[in-house]
Amino acid sequence: MNRKTLLGTLLLATILLATPGLAAAGPAPENEAETPVADVQPPSGRYYVTIDISSGQDAADLAQLLPDWDESFEAGSSTIILTAAEIARVRSQGYTVTVVGDAPAVPDAWPACYSHLSDLNSWLQGFAAAHPTMIDLIDYGDSWCKTQGGCTSPAPQNWSWPGDDLIVARITNELADGPKTGRFFVDGGIHAREIPTPELAKAFIELLVNGYGVDPNVTWLLDEREVYVVLSSNPDGRRMVELGAGTEPPYSGNPWYWRKNSNYSVAGSLACAWPPTSGSQFGIDMNRNHVFKWEGPNGGYSDYVCAQTFRGPSPASEPEIQAYEDFVRSIIPDQRGPGDNDPAPADVTGFLINLHNYTDGVILVPWGWTTANSPNNAQLEAIAYKMSTYNSYGVQHALYPVSGNTRDWAYGELGIPAYVIELYGDDFFSNCNLLPGIISNMLPVLKYAATISDRPYMRVYGPDARSVAASPTSVASGAPVNLTAQINDTQNGNQPVAAAEYFVVRPGDAPPGDPGTGTPMAAADGTFNSTIENVVATVATTGLGRGTHLAMVRGLDSGGNWGPFSAQSFEVTCFFADINCSSQVDVTDIMLAAEALQSYWTNGVYDPIFDLNNGGAGDGAFDLLDVQTVAANFGVTTR
Ligand SMILES: [Zn+2]
Repeated sequence: MNRKTLLGTLLLATILLATPGLAAAGPAPENEAETPVADVQPPSGRYYVTIDISSGQDAADLAQLLPDWDESFEAGSSTIILTAAEIARVRSQGYTVTVVGDAPAVPDAWPACYSHLSDLNSWLQGFAAAHPTMIDLIDYGDSWCKTQGGCTSPAPQNWSWPGDDLIVARITNELADGPKTGRFFVDGGIHAREIPTPELAKAFIELLVNGYGVDPNVTWLLDEREVYVVLSSNPDGRRMVELGAGTEPPYSGNPWYWRKNSNYSVAGSLACAWPPTSGSQFGIDMNRNHVFKWEGPNGGYSDYVCAQTFRGPSPASEPEIQAYEDFVRSIIPDQRGPGDNDPAPADVTGFLINLHNYTDGVILVPWGWTTANSPNNAQLEAIAYKMSTYNSYGVQHALYPVSGNTRDWAYGELGIPAYVIELYGDDFFSNCNLLPGIISNMLPVLKYAATISDRPYMRVYGPDARSVAASPTSVASGAPVNLTAQINDTQNGNQPVAAAEYFVVRPGDAPPGDPGTGTPMAAADGTFNSTIENVVATVATTGLGRGTHLAMVRGLDSGGNWGPFSAQSFEVTCFFADINCSSQVDVTDIMLAAEALQSYWTNGVYDPIFDLNNGGAGDGAFDLLDVQTVAANFGVTTR
């Protein structure tokens, strides 16, 4: 399915869903309010519809009329879910509504493919404990309920919950030599009912940690980058979603489609509906509460406490947002001037993605507080379009102003590329059969963001290094390795490729040198002159130690832009007693073996590289026999 949305498109095309057995309504007759939406009501009472929107003002007005779908209208998405009564109400305001199919009912129990918040938290604790050198869990603050010593729901039920710590997982290879050269922050669950987003965040953590030492591009990424992942940046709100589908009456029905946090201290909060409705709930919309352009000059927020987009009583009034901003500031410096038109420099470092759903699949570019372009618009759009090559999402500016939002804060205050990505799906709780595809379609986007997070505004214009291959994949020290790759600038500015280079590093090594300091690769056709060039090099392995090595390749285009690395691994094997892979068993091997033996006696740390006896197969322990094995082969060459 093609989910591309044209940038700046105001007229939303009608998309007919391939739903068997449903007649789509034709053009709306004049007396729309009285037109039945279908001959037979769907069992759910809910329909997929499209609404013709002819201007940004239309979209803003519809967001007021249908506050649940504010984000969809903001993102220019074409399909939403309405009841027959809502369809009548929208038509009575003069809009053309086209019914395109039956929508599923709101789930009447917790869908099996989604974790409860407590399960997500315990999974993260366990996964981190199992990978202590890859994951560091940081408690960056408390939810509103925790700051209050716990929350109690309005009378008469008086349901209590304690509130949560705000947890960010820092994913990196702590054992790598460093320094780290890029930081990427991503969070799910800021809108509580958008429950696919924490599942995606979880899958991203698994992809990274399980990929180290398996996927060469994850290996170097975790050696060089720090990735920060928050499963749920709004745990109080998530408790409210789950409360609706709880185990005790009256909260044992549908999960509540709760969007905001659960701060009920603002005057008027207890006059909001309880149990909540989609149109009336207390709490603060965290995506309107950031300090940057809070209560913005063009509107784009609500000052009504029960509204979906209530901005809160003051900038960053909510502890979740204060903690979010403070934490991101602590890892990424402020790199942009204070003026609305001050561009951030090209060498900005850092990257942020704020996950939401559901739409047709949209990447939202800053600004949101104004429909004008930001001073880094060209770079921000270039990155967004590049991301869309991985997931086929649309790229969109806000159709109408939305102030105090996360992407504007991160770009506006810090100058970094920052996006809302609205996952595709079929509802806030997307159907379980869609979830694996939603996740797998997005993982390459998150991986790309981490890849270019060192210098995103520069890397996005540099060519991709694709199809990096090392052959053979296993060689004796000294034998050549043929390294090949395709340097491709077609998705990065479409300029001719000018050069390529490679570095050979060990997993865990410090980042290789600056662009231009690597070993040159040749154009396979003899000349660098095309936007796509196959490149080749012969890697000399003399002097490389036994074990895994990474060949890291990157390209340069004619505009002077170096792209990000892409890597392939190969193994160097040696004659079993040639420990330093020098092509012969020499005095260095004897010294290394002796040092290892001493280290083993002193520290009791067993290094399998030195376990050589029994013909190199090893006996499971490093001992004197291993040293004697090396000595016995002294003077023997490997080839
Ligand atoms: Zn959202």
